Amino acid sequence: MIIVPEREIAGLVNRKDSFDAVEKVFASMASGAAYNFPVIRESIGHADALYGFKSGFDRTGLNLGLKSGGYWPGNADKGLTNHQSTVFLFDADTGKCRAVVGGNLLTALRTAAASAVSIKYLAPTNAKVLGMIGAGHQSTFQVRAAVEQREFEKIIGWNLHPEYLVNLESVARDVGLPFEVVDLDQLGAEADVIITITSSFDPILMDAQVTGGTHIACMGTDTVGKQEVDAALVARASVFTDEIAQSITLGECQHAVASGLKQQDDISQIGAVINGDHPGRVSQDEVTLFDGTGVGLQDLAVAAAVVELALEKGVALEVDF
Ligand code: NAD
Repeated sequence: MIIVPEREIAGLVNRKDSFDAVEKVFASMASGAAYNFPVIRESIGHADALYGFKSGFDRTGLNLGLKSGGYWPGNADKGLTNHQSTVFLFDADTGKCRAVVGGNLLTALRTAAASAVSIKYLAPTNAKVLGMIGAGHQSTFQVRAAVEQREFEKIIGWNLHPEYLVNLESVARDVGLPFEVVDLDQLGAEADVIITITSSFDPILMDAQVTGGTHIACMGTDTVGKQEVDAALVARASVFTDEIAQSITLGECQHAVASGLKQQDDISQIGAVINGDHPGRVSQDEVTLFDGTGVGLQDLAVAAAVVELALEKGVALEVDF
């Protein structure tokens, strides 16, 4: 069995590897070659933690396995990331455990890759302003991946806790773009692409605040009860997702579908756009919304890429198991 420790991941895999792996597996999901198993996600009644498993099988890449982990909100005070994840890959022919891979950085990379894939296929082609809602751990990964998809000229941001906005300011400086703190009215009116990446349980961005052709990537809602945007905005938008079953149960669409504002049949898989089976955005004035719920197959895809790179570079630990 191969072990790739968390400390090795940054030196092995980059944004392009992650983007390619996620784009490919979204396409496989839409063509029926890959499928996710039902998600387990539990509030464990200790340390305010949410813990669970995401798993699946990709018959094309022969990636079988699971990501175990969750969200510990008190970790930042201990100098740890709030998300803690480990990916387990199994040999699809024998069921033997093939690899254990640190999943923390991979989670951030694959989540940012998902919204970047949505921007590639759905954002207005002339998008100039990137609007960020959320400024925590994931947000800087989101910015770095997003700016590679369009010729952005400015980043604007809002966060419930303004003290975190320095994270966005600093990543904007790194990617060479000006950054401005704005209110939600200005963000909704000015941004051509909006990424929401918060732990909110109430809508932050309201329908009336979004004007003009916009692409919104809702990335924070991955649990029953969470919500980042107004259900009326979801209802108005052309909605795409990684996985429809997750979108309507634990993703951003859960509220609009439960209240009858959106029908499941009106939600499309992003993979269908990648495969050319769905046109995606049909006008520059449209509001498109990607509900990025986070699927196990994304984790397996990037972890499998890491295992190959670790073997190539000789940093994989091999143990008899
Ligand atoms: P974090 O704790 O580092 O940051 C949380 C962010 O949410 C901060 O900007 C914080 O100010 C904001 N926030 C906290 N409580 C809020 C509230 N009640 N209302 C509005 N904003 C609030 O977390 P992170 O690691 O950056 O993760 C952000 C979110 O993304 C989490 O909900 C996490 O579960 C989710 N996530 C989703 C995926 C996916 O694949 N879709 C992957 C990883 C993380």
